[in-house]
Amino acid sequence: MTDATLLQALRQGDRRALARAITLVESSRTDHREEAERLIEVLLPETGKSVRIGISGPPGAGKSTFIERFGLEGLALSRRIAVLAVDPASKRGGGAILGDKTRMAELSRAPEAFIRPSSAGASRGGIARRTREAILLCEGAGFDAVLVETVGVGQAETAVAEVVDMFVLILPPAGGDELQGIKRGIIELADLVLVNKADGELAAMAQRAAADYASALGLIRPHLPEWKVPVRAISALEGTGIREVWADIDHFRAALDHTGEWLRRRAEQARLALWSEIGDSLLERFRAVPEVARCLPEVEKEVLTGSRTPTSAARLLLASFLDQDCASPAALPGLPKAPA
Ligand code: GDP
Repeated sequence: MTDATLLQALRQGDRRALARAITLVESSRTDHREEAERLIEVLLPETGKSVRIGISGPPGAGKSTFIERFGLEGLALSRRIAVLAVDPASKRGGGAILGDKTRMAELSRAPEAFIRPSSAGASRGGIARRTREAILLCEGAGFDAVLVETVGVGQAETAVAEVVDMFVLILPPAGGDELQGIKRGIIELADLVLVNKADGELAAMAQRAAADYASALGLIRPHLPEWKVPVRAISALEGTGIREVWADIDHFRAALDHTGEWLRRRAEQARLALWSEIGDSLLERFRAVPEVARCLPEVEKEVLTGSRTPTSAARLLLASFLDQDCASPAALPGLPKAPA
């Protein structure tokens, strides 16, 4: 498929074209990445219109059950829903967390929805970049809500929080001790907390947990002055409270739009992304310089054993990196010598 046909198909909202474009974004091949960059560059003016929602929570909390319900409810409200799933820790192979076809079965059959599992294993910076670019592609394809699902145990959450507008946390109907596996910091990232499984025998427990979280959150200084984080007991299984979540999202957007924070956040995210791209590219080039690559293990060992300070080691390696064209042992006193 040429760039032009892919672009045209994408603009028409073709889901296969979108899947293909996201594959380019995720590829480690330079030609693929360049093709992806060209695509995004052209699409950029058409992007930005969706609401970007991060969804996280510990395994078993009911994220996929929720996303299925929530997505179907969104379709009923005439929204086109894209779901991206990020699970760098997945041991379930390339299919990652959505590989299991039974997850979100109904939503995945709906023509107005798009579901995309991520491939496993990427650095934090890699996760943020891929997710950011995949979101832009979804927007280019006309999706107006992009849900990014992560499992609330790793570094993916903070990476994803940097590229979404709103961060939703889904918790099981139990408190404190049973929340091992979810980092405390993640609760503070949340713009909306949902205590799931508020049905049958678990209903009372879920209501109690929701009240506990609400009072705990009341003690933390809100991270946005215009928004008090709602805590809701819901049942993804029975579908109770799901429509209210769509309303919460609309209220959130309206509150942040009102003060200009919505666009400020996005601008700030773009600025951060610029700097993390610069950082990542520089690091990549740094490591690729042969002189640096040669010395790195030795210098790292010296730092580990305390025979060289990190400051001096960094200065040494950076000098070697910056002088890569004119580096000579004489110009770089103190660098370990190459084996003869
Ligand atoms: P995930 O790992 O967070 O994606 O969780 P799943 O969506 O796979 O759900 C884990 C288990 O919890 C499954 O057995 C679901 O059927 C069950 N579950 C999910 N949502 C609810 C709910 O609202 N109520 C009840 N009772 N069970 C639920």
